[in-house]
Amino acid sequence: MSELGEFELIARYFKRPERALGAGVALGVGDDCALLQPGAGMQLAVSSDMLVSGRHFFADVDPRTLGHKALAVNLSDLAACGARPLGFTLALALPTANADWLAAFSEGLFALADAHHCILVGGDTTRGPLNICITVFGEVPPGHALLRSGARAGDDVYVSGTLGDAALALKAMLGEIELPPEVLMQARKRLEQPAPRVALGLALRGIATAAADVSDGLVGDLGHILEQSGVGATVHTEIATSLIASHAYFMGASGPNDLQKMAPQLLQCALAGGDDYELVFTAPATNREAVLSAAQRSATVVTRIGRIDSEPGLRLIDAQGKPLAQQLASFDHFGT
Ligand code: ADP
Ligand code: MG
Repeated sequence: MSELGEFELIARYFKRPERALGAGVALGVGDDCALLQPGAGMQLAVSSDMLVSGRHFFADVDPRTLGHKALAVNLSDLAACGARPLGFTLALALPTANADWLAAFSEGLFALADAHHCILVGGDTTRGPLNICITVFGEVPPGHALLRSGARAGDDVYVSGTLGDAALALKAMLGEIELPPEVLMQARKRLEQPAPRVALGLALRGIATAAADVSDGLVGDLGHILEQSGVGATVHTEIATSLIASHAYFMGASGPNDLQKMAPQLLQCALAGGDDYELVFTAPATNREAVLSAAQRSATVVTRIGRIDSEPGLRLIDAQGKPLAQQLASFDHFGT
C-alpha cells in the first residue's frame, strides 16, 4: 500500500493502547500471534463471517455502518451460542488506503466492540477488492453452549426483536418496492446497523434448548435447528409477520388497501428475508416464565411464534390455522 504503508495503517487505525486489553486477552495486536486467556475451565467459542463488497453490501455504503455490521454479524453468532465475547481478528482487503474511509470504518467497528467488551487482537491487511473477514472468540462454560441440536417435541419456538425489516429495506434500495421515507429510514437502520443479541444469548443459558441467529431468514435458520434436532415445527405466520416493524405502518397510517397490496412482500421478508440478526430459539413450556425473565434481564423483546413437533418439517399456518399458500425460500448464496 503506497498511500499509507501497511504497518502505518495498522498502527494508526487498528492498534490501540495496551490498557484497552480486557480480562480475556493477554496479548493483542503487534506480535506474530495474539494470546487469549479464557476464564478457568471455559470453552472457547469461535466463529468467522466474511462480508464481500457487492455481495453483502453496496460498495459506497457508509464505512462507519460497515465497520459496525462486519463485527455485528459475528457477535450475533456468539449470541446464538450463549457465549460471552472476548476478542476478534480482522482480515481486511482494501483497494486503496483511504484515510477518511479507514477512520470511519474503525470508528464504527470499535464503537460496537467497546459496547461488548470485545477486543481486536490481530488480523491481516492486504490490497485487493474490498473484503472484510472477522473471526470472533468468546467463552462459555462447558455444557452451556446453546446448540442447534437441542430442540425437543413440545418445546415452544421464540424469536427476538423484529423480523424482515432489513430485507424490506434491501428490496426498496434495489428499487423492487417503494417505501415511505420514514419507514425506509427505520428499515435501513436494521439492515446497516443490526444489534447483536449477545445479552439475550447469555441470559438464555440453561433455559433455551436450542438456538440459532437469523441471518438467512427465519424459515431457513429455524430449519437448521429442526434438521439438527431431528424434529419439526408449526409456526404461526401472522405472529411472525406482525413482527415486521413496517407492518404497523401499512396497517395504520396508510390504510388497509396498502396493507393488502404489501402483504405478500411483508410475509416474504418476515419469514425468509435474512439479515435480521435476531435469535430464534426453543424452550420447554415449563420455562415460559424463565424465558420472560431472560428477555427482561437482557432488555430484549421476545415473541412466542410456534411449537416443536415430533413430525419432521416446518408447517407454516395462517391466522385461520390453514397451511400457508405462499412459497418461501431462504437466502442461499449458491442456490438457484
Ligand atoms: P504477519 O507478517 O505475521 O502476517 P502482519 O505483518 O501482517 O503479521 O501484521 C502485524 C501485526 O498487525 C500482527 O499482530 C497482526 O495480527 C496485526 N494486524 C494486521 N492487520 C490487522 C488488522 N486489519 N487489524 C488488526 N490487527 C492487524
Ligand atoms: Mg500478514
